Amino acid sequence: MQAIKINTAAPAPPQSAILLLYTGGTLGMQLDERQGVLRPFDFAQILRNIPELSQLSCEITVVSMPQLIDSSNMQPAIWQEMVQIIAHFYPDYDGFVILHGTDTMAYSASALSFMLENLQKPLIFTGAQLPIGAIRTDARQNILSSLEIAQARHPRGQVLVPEVCIFFNDVLIRGNRAQKEESVLFDAFKSENYPYLAKAGVHIQYTHEAIAPCPTAPFAAHLALDNRVALLKLFPGLRPEVLQALLQIPDLQGLVIETYGSGNAPTADWFLDSVRQALARGLVILNISQCLGGQVAQGRYETSVALREMGVVGGSDLTTEAAITKLMFLLGQKLPPEALRAALAAPLRGEMTISPGE
Ligand code: ASP
Repeated sequence: MQAIKINTAAPAPPQSAILLLYTGGTLGMQLDERQGVLRPFDFAQILRNIPELSQLSCEITVVSMPQLIDSSNMQPAIWQEMVQIIAHFYPDYDGFVILHGTDTMAYSASALSFMLENLQKPLIFTGAQLPIGAIRTDARQNILSSLEIAQARHPRGQVLVPEVCIFFNDVLIRGNRAQKEESVLFDAFKSENYPYLAKAGVHIQYTHEAIAPCPTAPFAAHLALDNRVALLKLFPGLRPEVLQALLQIPDLQGLVIETYGSGNAPTADWFLDSVRQALARGLVILNISQCLGGQVAQGRYETSVALREMGVVGGSDLTTEAAITKLMFLLGQKLPPEALRAALAAPLRGEMTISPGE
């Protein structure tokens, strides 16, 4: 794998070593004049656009994924490659920055948060709404602050943010709590149910009490993911045939249902019978809400009592991105059914708040 090394402190020795993994996305795109579309281009050219890098006292190693992609083409196999790269370089670096398209960044950050257990170093995803060559680009600021966070330490030397995060438009968000909520303005990512881990202004102000403590158990990278899953968003007018067709996919192992409000769904017989039969066949069903804020509390309304009694797992305040990737990750662990359901309902990497009564 080709790696470019830059000592931003040269000729002085660097104070830290950061691995920058470039995956593609708008940040590194340029306009294909002939076809009028944006395509990713070679990273070596990007660095020329950030002369401010020389003010960071670190050694940056830039590694590019073999295929630079628009993140709409993200796949679990690419998460596995990313995890292998992080695991390979893990012992030799103080922190990691992943340059990624914004479209699926929250999915990737969620997936990697589950796949990397006992992470003791910062892993910061960032990207941009405008290519780095554009006059008003947000790329420069996002990269520079992400690098600063990736090398940040407490005065006594401990790592400040031992988590998978997204840094974007001056906020640092726990990766598995982030959602892309804006496609045009610069504040693309929000976290409705968990405080920002830091805000960048004149200084980067960390919310220390929101940041996970540094684990003491050894770091472990997990590659197994099972994508025999589906996602169903309820809407008034959903036809029985649509639900049945989905539930009859022969090898389907898990389903995330985005229900209404605090976890409510239709009480019509056709709906509940289909769900009951699917659960009886061994399908795991996770109930999350279409509402961005708040959480699922199955049993609060009559319209969710049956789901709880049938064995649908309440997903509390999981984002869609965290729910679907957590399901893929846990199915990949090949847990027995009860252990799988228990693991889905409990926080693994700070991705959910345990709701009372669930
Ligand atoms: N389509 C782009 C991507 O996700 C958008 C972006 O980078 O912001 O790769």
